[in-house]
Amino acid sequence: MSIKDAQSPLSAAPAARTRHHQVVIVGGGSAGATVAARLCRALKEPDVAVIEPSDVHYYQPLWTLVGGGVTNKETTRRREADVLPSKATLVRNAAKEFIPSENTVVLDDGSKVTYDYLVVAMGIKLNWTAIKGMSPDLIGQHGICSNYLYEGCEQTWKTLQAFKGGNAVFTMPVPPIKCAGAPQKIMYLADDHFRRSGVREKATVSFFCGAPSIFSVKEYAETLAGIVQRKGIQTHFKYQLAEIQPDSQTAIFHSTGEEDPIEIHFDMIHITPPQCAPDVLKGSPISDAGGWVSADKFTLQHPEFPNIFSLGDCSSLPTSKTGAAIRKQAPVVAENLMKTMRGEPTASFKRYDGYTSCPLVTGYGKLILAEFDYDLKPKETFPFNQNKERWSMYQLKRHGLPALYWNGMLKGRA
Ligand SMILES: Cc1cc2nc3c(=O)[nH]c(=O)nc-3n(C[C@H](O)[C@H](O)[C@H](O)COP(=O)(O)OP(=O)(O)OC[C@H]3O[C@@H](n4cnc5c(N)ncnc54)[C@H](O)[C@@H]3O)c2cc1C
Repeated sequence: MSIKDAQSPLSAAPAARTRHHQVVIVGGGSAGATVAARLCRALKEPDVAVIEPSDVHYYQPLWTLVGGGVTNKETTRRREADVLPSKATLVRNAAKEFIPSENTVVLDDGSKVTYDYLVVAMGIKLNWTAIKGMSPDLIGQHGICSNYLYEGCEQTWKTLQAFKGGNAVFTMPVPPIKCAGAPQKIMYLADDHFRRSGVREKATVSFFCGAPSIFSVKEYAETLAGIVQRKGIQTHFKYQLAEIQPDSQTAIFHSTGEEDPIEIHFDMIHITPPQCAPDVLKGSPISDAGGWVSADKFTLQHPEFPNIFSLGDCSSLPTSKTGAAIRKQAPVVAENLMKTMRGEPTASFKRYDGYTSCPLVTGYGKLILAEFDYDLKPKETFPFNQNKERWSMYQLKRHGLPALYWNGMLKGRA
């Protein structure tokens, strides 16, 4: 075992009812693990605990390509214990309650963890029950699939292969969701696959989107609108999936405006579930009215409790929720937390500009690398026009970014 594991049989003493760590990180996903790595590298004698209920850590961005049959789902997972830094302590449990006035996190088993500094990185909740008749158990049956679950993404590829024509429907709920590009990326791969397998002429491909347009950044939206037109995809904006009737393969969409509902028969449907803040955060003293952990959008520090920071999907940061955004948020959290430890003034804090990125796969071997900031202005990395479908950027997503994630970001180096 490469890390100190609080629940491990190797631990000499039984778990204490209350334990203390200098830094407690809630959530060992992309954000929590990256911040843990940065702190363990930077602090002389790190006392960093990560509270995480899952044994497994996922690289979710590859689930799109698993759904498109490009790679296996197993390549997207590693043991949680293997991705955390060796100097961190893994507390294998879930946070149940936050008591910031007492610097305390209560865990599912009733024990408590106290802290000097807290980082909250619990991710986002997939709210399947917001769709009447829908349950994750239906994935893989009745032509229903979803890339938003580890088990589901491989079913997507099976569903695409089994599709022999008819209505192929792709949904995107009203944001916020994680990776707002993912609902349409799988649609472009599906369209490409249908053309290659000779079924596209027998298919109608439709995109029902809760947002008012195909993408929030004008420049990329214009290019994507052209791609949708070229591919002959029918779009319905401001429509959210409200109900699934699996036996009759019927989907009912409600307008977010004044339009009439649309009822449609599907032969396959890729569902992106509505998403919301985790239940534990709703009504918590560290959260805003929506349940997102309050964080200053530039410093990522809690406005009321200066020893608390938040980042990633569960935070209130008004940017698109992606792993790429976390890559830029994590150094800001780590540095500002250490400045807080040293008593340095907020004015000296590192600032996050809202950077986020969406590698928009538009077909096999084609990708537009969208990168932008809080002002929805492109903020591109490469010295060429990224608002163009490119083979090189597809290779970056397929091979470069996963390597950067496992070997750079999770090690606190990139
Ligand atoms: C299909 C798909 C495609 C995507 N594509 C891209 C892409 O191309 N590029 C990109 O940058 N991003 C992409 N993303 C988004 C990216 O994966 C997420 O934004 C990122 O993983 C968020 O990191 P996080 O740490 O906030 O949450 P997560 O990585 O989800 O981690 C949250 C962690 O918190 C833990 N947790 C939950 N509840 C508790 C609790 N009560 N107590 C303690 N721990 C808890 C969970 O077990 C989990 O380990 C995609 C996501 C999906 C689903």
